[in-house]
Amino acid sequence: MSNPESEVSAATRLVAGGRPVRAPGAALSPAIEFTSTYVADGPVSYARSGNPTWTAFEDTLGSLEGGRALAFASGMAAIHACFQLTDHGARVVAPTTAYNGTGALLDNASQSGRLRVTRVQMDDTPALLAAMDGADLLWIESPTNPMLEIADIPALTAYARDHGVLTVCDNTFLTPLVQRPLDLGVDVVLHSATKYLAGHSDVIIGATITADDALHERLHTTRTLLGAIPGPMETWLALRGMRTLHLRLERATANAAELARRLDGHPTVDRVRYPGVGAIVSIELSGGQRAAERLEEQVQVWAPATSLGGVESTLERRRRHPLEPTTVPQSLVRLSVGVEDVEDLWRDLDRSLRHSA
Ligand SMILES: *Cc1c(COP(=O)(O)O)cnc(C)c1O
Repeated sequence: MSNPESEVSAATRLVAGGRPVRAPGAALSPAIEFTSTYVADGPVSYARSGNPTWTAFEDTLGSLEGGRALAFASGMAAIHACFQLTDHGARVVAPTTAYNGTGALLDNASQSGRLRVTRVQMDDTPALLAAMDGADLLWIESPTNPMLEIADIPALTAYARDHGVLTVCDNTFLTPLVQRPLDLGVDVVLHSATKYLAGHSDVIIGATITADDALHERLHTTRTLLGAIPGPMETWLALRGMRTLHLRLERATANAAELARRLDGHPTVDRVRYPGVGAIVSIELSGGQRAAERLEEQVQVWAPATSLGGVESTLERRRRHPLEPTTVPQSLVRLSVGVEDVEDLWRDLDRSLRHSA
């Protein structure tokens, strides 16, 4: 695989990363390597531990985050592998309103005695620092899903480094184009590449990135032993999606900023949560749960659907999920703003909000 020069910008790396070595007649795009095994005496013998299509995706993502990436079967598989970095009975500090799958996994681990879990608001730095006393792992999600709280990552990692606390940051919402957690002192970055990285709502895949070789090896071993591996087809689709990440994110972010501005002061909206970066906006409706449910039924351009980070705009009342933390208001609707024409998005949203009130 060719490795684009490290001095070229992220946009160029997204386009150039993971391509085959350039030679007359060589394919410009990486192959989808459908194989379960390899001829003996090479670097990899069985495809549960390595595949060239993963390498193409991993080289590109690793270069963007500033470490070595590993592709996983899903974001959840990668999250599980991160928790496997801790010993039995380890103490984990995690956000009160983390992604609900992360929260459910922590609840399971806590009920079985595998982990001891302390949940703290991600934007309450003093409380987090206090909770980290004697902890083994800090789980960072910033902005949080769906409350969009922002963590003071440098303050948290400075304390963690001094006190031997391992830090993992779920960077799904911002991507390395907006936030590079390894530069902020985080040990492991986590992605649901299902979302912005792949970007087309057609594949489920996850990834970890770390600059620490020992952590990389342990995550690799866990992936191999759990068999938490993505298919070559999914990985290839994710890399193809990533080629346009910078273009998609630029448009989606501009759309989100404009919609957040217009929603602020809308007669049907009590509160707009928008951290000023990224393309997720959460709104709380003055008409409560019923208005939020009607909004899901009314929209035509927006799709009423879970998940986020695709080219298409989706929205969802998060409390429709039984596992969603009860700290999330019943009236909260999370908008994943896509790359459509912003006027079309606004007309549909404005009309639907008024009909739902
Ligand atoms: C979707 C999501 C996950 C889980 O990833 P999957 O690919 O669905 O397994 C983890 N974290 C965040 C922030 C997410 O949005």
